[in-house]
Amino acid sequence: MIVIMLGAPGTGKGTVGNLLAEKLQIPHISSGEIFRSYIKEEDEIGKQIRNYVSEGKLVPDELTIKILEKRLQEPDTEKGCILDGYPRTVLQAESLDALLKKQNRSVKVAVNLSLSDDEIVERIGKRRTCPNADCREIYNLDFRKPKIENHCDKCGTELIIREDDNEVTIRKRLENYHNISENLIDFYKHKDILYTVKLNNESNRVSSDIAKEIEEYLKK
Ligand code: ADP
Ligand code: ZN
Repeated sequence: MIVIMLGAPGTGKGTVGNLLAEKLQIPHISSGEIFRSYIKEEDEIGKQIRNYVSEGKLVPDELTIKILEKRLQEPDTEKGCILDGYPRTVLQAESLDALLKKQNRSVKVAVNLSLSDDEIVERIGKRRTCPNADCREIYNLDFRKPKIENHCDKCGTELIIREDDNEVTIRKRLENYHNISENLIDFYKHKDILYTVKLNNESNRVSSDIAKEIEEYLKK
């Protein structure tokens, strides 16, 4: 089963995607995480990627598609996966379709998590991330606080603020989202596989409830 997590940065794609992957026992594939691990390597590709990511720009399609297609051909994805952050452009979505067709499978549902820009900026400002590559748990100082201040509940590592989680970069990422990635909502609506979950910071629905709702929907 292949599930795509759509939605602007800061809508909780990563957290919800993680939970869904656990429930469905399939891998959670986050393009942002893959890029951050390349950046850590500090090799040529990593340096190239870093320039885009740190400025809140999209990594070029050609490179993104190459990296993600490689990942999607690994055997652990045979039973499916949760795709978080990929595709983010129509070209990426089309090439994903072409790859899946070759593999005799298709996207089951594209989940669209929707939240207003102001609420997104507020959320990302309070986001803290576990930098441990084997963990990557995501926290929020308002509604998903770590039990011990500034340390990961799961592995104890000291939490960080992602380099690209500053207001200037967030605004740039939102602009990209509205100009480029939002087109994917129509793309998947036309295919009749879009499922939208409307969020707001007031109601602060916990991620596990949202994951449960999506899981129920997938059973239908
Ligand atoms: P967020 O959704 O909060 O922006 P991600 O971890 O998904 O965070 O992505 C971080 C950055 O990685 C993006 O701002 C962008 O630079 C790059 N990136 C991630 N996925 C893609 C993609 N599919 N295409 C191009 N760039 C991407
Ligand atoms: Zn951790």
